[in-house]
Amino acid sequence: MRERAVLHVERDSVESDRTSQRRYAEASARVRVRVPAKVNLFLAVRGLRDDGYHELVSIMQTVGIHDTVTVELEGGESTCRHPAVRRFMELRFSHDGGDGVPDDESNLAVRAARLLMQRTGTGTADPRDRDGAPDAVPATRVELAKRIPVAAGMAGGSADAAATLVALNRLWECGLDRDELRVLAAELGADVPFCVTGGTALATGTGTATAQVLARGPFHWVVGMSDDPLSTPEVYRVFDEVGRPTEREPDAVLQALRTGDSEALGDALHNDLEVAAFTLRPGLEAARDAFLAEGALGAVVSGSGPTIVALAENERHARDLADAVGDRFDRVEVASSPAAGPDVADLR
Ligand code: ATP
Repeated sequence: MRERAVLHVERDSVESDRTSQRRYAEASARVRVRVPAKVNLFLAVRGLRDDGYHELVSIMQTVGIHDTVTVELEGGESTCRHPAVRRFMELRFSHDGGDGVPDDESNLAVRAARLLMQRTGTGTADPRDRDGAPDAVPATRVELAKRIPVAAGMAGGSADAAATLVALNRLWECGLDRDELRVLAAELGADVPFCVTGGTALATGTGTATAQVLARGPFHWVVGMSDDPLSTPEVYRVFDEVGRPTEREPDAVLQALRTGDSEALGDALHNDLEVAAFTLRPGLEAARDAFLAEGALGAVVSGSGPTIVALAENERHARDLADAVGDRFDRVEVASSPAAGPDVADLR
């Protein structure tokens, strides 16, 4: 993986100036990637490992609530793309996600950009190192528009990291395929490789080993969201106090996905972490039960919560459920799954 990325940069650097200038001038200088959130249809905690991580079995599926990452070259696109100049690329980051979303180097979108920079020789390792830099240092702007709720069990940060990798790979013409991006993604977090692909996946181990599974759809959901986040480590800590590892298997969910049977899927939805989320957030269990009382096919906390997803028979039914139970949440959306993975658009 590393070799391939380095090779690409070397190939660029031996390219004749004329060829590279022409190729870079033709490429897009602005790329937008829409990336979906995920829901957990099944999550079983098997136990605690010696290193403090939990062993899990989980089934994740992308659902149609999206963040958008837009990346753009500033400062004259053909200049920005020249390999020699690109070495000094600066990064400018902004988002509209409010106080809960970091705006510094800890943001997963920025971490993804830095990782790709490092592996492709784009940007200086130390921004103060200006030896040989041109007068006007080129910059890449990364803008994040957030619709996926923060710290809500919907992998918003992981989705942003995946979208940033996909977008910058295109903008900077790094030439990595999705499998290579997934290898990089694994360095950023357990859910990031899944977010690079989207669809439906069975995750095992600490969540890092994923395999795509067959899923017919669409399935129609009501997604009940809270403005008040739950911290994933805190939920696992409480799980260790009040929960118990289980041997529950995901077979019923896998079978329902294979056949596209919404009723069977509703019955099979399961999350061992619910007990911890309910302990930390009084009122959440009643909200889930309200969905069931109103006729949802099933309802469950997604990931570490506090988002609750309720399965409906069809889109109309989902809207009715949203109307009936919506006032228990800060925000309610109707969405279908599985949603297509990161969607790339060249803007010019
Ligand atoms: P998961 O379902 O993978 O456990 P989550 O939905 O519970 O994730 P995120 O929305 O990814 O959680 O946010 C978890 C924390 O990550 C936030 O509290 C925030 O401090 C940090 N974070 C870093 N980058 C981002 C980002 N781009 N968007 C949201 N949060 C981010």
